[in-house]
Amino acid sequence: MSLHFETRAIHEGQSPDPSTGATIPPLYISSTYTQQAPGENLGYDYARSNNPTRASLETVLAALEGGEAAAAFASGSAACSAVLDTLAPGDGVVASDDLYGGTFRLLDKVFRPLGIEVAFAASASVVDFERAVVSLRRPRMLWFESPTNPLLQTLDIEALSKLAKSYHLVTAVDNTFASPYLQQPISLGADLVVHSTTKYLGGHSDVIGGAVIARNQDALERIRFLQNARGAVPGPLDCYLVQRGIKTLAVRMERHSQSARRLAEFLSAHKSVQKVYYPGLPSHPTYEVARRQMRDFGGMISLDLVGGLHAARSFCTKLKVFSLAESLGGVESLCCHPATMTHSSIPAEIRVPRGITDGLIRLSVGLEHVEDLECDLAQALETVS
Ligand SMILES: *Cc1c(COP(=O)(O)O)cnc(C)c1O
Repeated sequence: MSLHFETRAIHEGQSPDPSTGATIPPLYISSTYTQQAPGENLGYDYARSNNPTRASLETVLAALEGGEAAAAFASGSAACSAVLDTLAPGDGVVASDDLYGGTFRLLDKVFRPLGIEVAFAASASVVDFERAVVSLRRPRMLWFESPTNPLLQTLDIEALSKLAKSYHLVTAVDNTFASPYLQQPISLGADLVVHSTTKYLGGHSDVIGGAVIARNQDALERIRFLQNARGAVPGPLDCYLVQRGIKTLAVRMERHSQSARRLAEFLSAHKSVQKVYYPGLPSHPTYEVARRQMRDFGGMISLDLVGGLHAARSFCTKLKVFSLAESLGGVESLCCHPATMTHSSIPAEIRVPRGITDGLIRLSVGLEHVEDLECDLAQALETVS
């Protein structure tokens, strides 16, 4: 019987505990495991190498992304780092220009100094990615996110994976903004999927975590080795919290998407809003790709306010239901000002031409009643106009 996403999200890796019948398997906090004889054990010896609670989470993550195996990490950044760590000095990686700030920092400040060549595609187009690939001496990897942060461009995963294949590159996709419920990069040709499970997978803003999921077991071998050797592993409680979040991922993503679509339409019609970026608005330049590639359009919206920095500051401080905070993907709605928060490390002369203006606001639409969210946006917009 082939089970649907929702059913697998609840049951994969979650068999009742055989010794007690506990429906929810207990949290394994033991750091070590008693062996029957030297080198003889029940599959676990030391909790950095493996842990039943972590193994459960890895099982469900692999199933939901359609991969053969997964490795959980202490954060999304540790997961990104493990993937880039598979490159050797002299190898090259091509990344999209619209990138999570922490990933940009890893590429620029950690891996570049170690001798990894990095090239950024000038835009989300396949042509610009190919241009970046051929600029490298020894290209090995294509790295991108979709939808991107904060302009929510949808990149064509199938076309980019095909390009990567023609140059024998590994395709790694950061699927944090979409979650496996909305899109599954492996089914579109990607080799590796990376997540900050801190966001939609955890879903409740109460845990930091990350994961790498691989199309095939072999591709994950080196990453598993690094998980143990570098040791950036998540604790059992963190794994448990992410797995608990995953059980409601489908219903959460549906409501996030439904509310965000309504708010995106409301914002588009408002006179104080210059521009709205939402993957599901036909006015978004990548709308056709999003429609083809995603089940729904997610809970993230960005908007450019008339009135620039002054308007943005006033808007953010007037919101009552949305909290002014970094991060995304939780049940509570958040608002962030990329120019002074998540993207403040990018100089204005690079940031502004890319569309990350002083008036840009990013919203993570939560699960509060959509009318309350709309009223909150309306009253905050009133003060800026
Ligand atoms: C948050 C985030 C990360 C980093 O994850 P942490 O869990 O904060 O280390 C990586 N990629 C994207 C797209 C993110 O939003």
